[in-house]
Amino acid sequence: MTEHRSLSLAIVGGGIAGLTLTVALLTKCPHINITLYESAEAFGEIGAGVGFSPVMVRTMALIDPRIAEAFVKCSKGNTVTDPPNWFHVRVGDQRKKDVKLGEEIFVIPGRKGPGGGVHRAHFLDELVKLVPEGVAQFKKRVLEITEACDGSGDVVLHFTDGSTAQHSAVLGCDGIKSRVRSIVLGDSDAVKALFSGKYAYRGLLPMSEAVEILGNETPRTPQMYMGYHGHVLTFPIANGTLFNVVAFSSRPTWEDSNWVVQTSRDDMLEDYKDWIPAVRKIMQNIRKPDVWALFNHPPAPTYYSAKPLICLVGDAAHASTPHQGAGAGMCIEDVYVLSELLSQCHAKTTLETVFHAYDTVRTPRSQKLVKTSKEAGMLWDFEGEGVGDDLEALRINAQTRMAWIWDHEISNDLNEARRMMQEGASKTP
Ligand SMILES: Cc1cc2nc3c(=O)[nH]c(=O)nc-3n(C[C@H](O)[C@H](O)[C@H](O)COP(=O)(O)OP(=O)(O)OC[C@H]3O[C@@H](n4cnc5c(N)ncnc54)[C@H](O)[C@@H]3O)c2cc1C
Repeated sequence: MTEHRSLSLAIVGGGIAGLTLTVALLTKCPHINITLYESAEAFGEIGAGVGFSPVMVRTMALIDPRIAEAFVKCSKGNTVTDPPNWFHVRVGDQRKKDVKLGEEIFVIPGRKGPGGGVHRAHFLDELVKLVPEGVAQFKKRVLEITEACDGSGDVVLHFTDGSTAQHSAVLGCDGIKSRVRSIVLGDSDAVKALFSGKYAYRGLLPMSEAVEILGNETPRTPQMYMGYHGHVLTFPIANGTLFNVVAFSSRPTWEDSNWVVQTSRDDMLEDYKDWIPAVRKIMQNIRKPDVWALFNHPPAPTYYSAKPLICLVGDAAHASTPHQGAGAGMCIEDVYVLSELLSQCHAKTTLETVFHAYDTVRTPRSQKLVKTSKEAGMLWDFEGEGVGDDLEALRINAQTRMAWIWDHEISNDLNEARRMMQEGASKTP
């Protein structure tokens, strides 16, 4: 009973993974003390969109119905078509000659149920409302994690402000540049994310302006304009009041140590000089365009370490490019499986078994996303192996490649992990 009460977990990082994990553990694990350490002064997300497929929204509800309600609240202005479509696909690059430019060539059917784009900041604000006062500590950047010297088997977090904190284990949700990942993986080549060969301009327009450019219908549903070495995605966010633009382009390397940089409108337009007027007009009008270099993680050999006891969650474990719109969805799935397993963990000695079971079921699926997402980015840019700019081959591939993500039964993974936990399986990472 004493050990029962003494379990305490440190969550490092308060993005989508860290916040949903905090809400999940507060709900499902009243026997565990939870503290969230965030390096920034406050919770925050950039002013851009993020999309979730219905399967991920259903998983949100399995974690805590209030998370799915938060999503629905932020997405209720989205146009829902029947049948639902993930993207309406068009060609936007004038160098492609054998097609009606700008016209719909096929759709990628989606799945039924709540889903689609939301404004990141709005969704995060709703999640923050679910975290009680006092659970999160800000301006706490983790520098190091060591084992406690008191024989307790605890971990000690060392922050850049010189302070420390002792907990039973650490859950690292500190994103693609994760310090916690480097502590778990040591000097492995898999620590650092690699440039994927793609970068993206992200920006927003008031929906009214998008309607002036594209007409009333097109801006209100998700669109993909494909081209050579680039593609442009648009979808409505903020309950249909904003038009979100993500325009991708290619280059072999990324030298800047910053992965998000301001850009000039002229440089951005240069990348789309061969594209149709409608796309160029969208690009001309987006507010304050940023460029995002798109990096992804090499496959991590493990998502946890036993000494010190640490587990990686979300992008810290498996940061992906965004080309299948499921990176944040994988965070949600991680959180569901891990929080369910932790709800059955009442002793510090069981934590390693939990992390091992989580690692075993989450690694194949989350790392498959990283690999196939990079391939999808090439596909949408007419670079797919054996596909190129063959629109029929592209259609067949596009209409089938997402099924393993969207039709997945996450409860099977959880059952498998529970079975492993019951067997008390353990491995040395
Ligand atoms: C252009 C683009 C578009 C995308 N679109 C989609 C999409 O449509 N759908 C989708 O599912 N996914 C999408 N993704 C992926 C998605 O954004 C990520 O998978 C998700 O946001 C990762 O969340 P996270 O909480 O793991 O990490 P993050 O959001 O990076 O959060 C990490 C947190 O940790 C904090 N932190 C960092 N270091 C430390 C430290 N040392 N100590 C303490 N705190 C620390 C940070 O301040 C931050 O708050 C997209 C990604 C990009 C780049």
